[in-house]
Amino acid sequence: MHISKSQRNGLLFCCVSVVFFCISSGCATNKSTLPDLSLDNQLIVTEVSRDAKRSDCDTLVITCIDYRFTFENQGFVNETLGLKDNYDHISIPGSIQNLINPETSDLVLSKFALSVRLHLVKRIVIISHKDCGGYGGSASFGSELAEHETLCADLKKARDMFLEKYPTLEVNLFLESLLQEGNEAKVHFEKIL
Ligand SMILES: [Zn+2]
Repeated sequence: MHISKSQRNGLLFCCVSVVFFCISSGCATNKSTLPDLSLDNQLIVTEVSRDAKRSDCDTLVITCIDYRFTFENQGFVNETLGLKDNYDHISIPGSIQNLINPETSDLVLSKFALSVRLHLVKRIVIISHKDCGGYGGSASFGSELAEHETLCADLKKARDMFLEKYPTLEVNLFLESLLQEGNEAKVHFEKIL
C-alpha cells in the first residue's frame, strides 16, 4: 500500500498525539487519586492519655512496613493485645527477613537495642506476614505450606537472636495473613509458639 508524505505526517501526528494524551491523562489521573493533605491550621493539637506520659513502656512491636496491614496491626496491638499507649513500634521492610539476614541483622538489632535501653522494654512482639515483598511474595515459596513453614522458622530464629542478646526478654510471635472472605478482605493473626 502506498502512503503519501502528507498521509505519513498525518499518521505520525496522530500517534504522537495519542501518546501525549495517554501520558498527560495518566499523570492527571494519578494526581487526582492522591488524597488532599492540606490542612486549615498549621498547628494541630491532639490529646494524649495519661498512660502515654510515662517515661518508659513495656513492649517493643516489630512489623513489616506493608501498608495493607498497618491499620489492622494497630487495632491488634492496641485492642486485642491491650497494649494501648504502652509500646514502641518499629517498621522495617521485610522486617523478619532483615533481622535474620547476617548482612543486615546488626543494623536492625542496634535499632532495637536503643528501644530496649531508652524505654526499658521487657517484651517484644514480632509480627510477620504472608505475601511479604521482602521474601519476594507468596509465589516465591512454591506452596502455602512452604511459605508457612519458612515464615514460622524465621520468626523462631528472630526470637532466638533476641533471647541470646537479652535473655530476660519475653518474645511473642505472630504470623498474619490477608484473606478474602466473601466480599471482604480480613487479616488473620496466628500466634506462633
Ligand atoms: Zn512485608
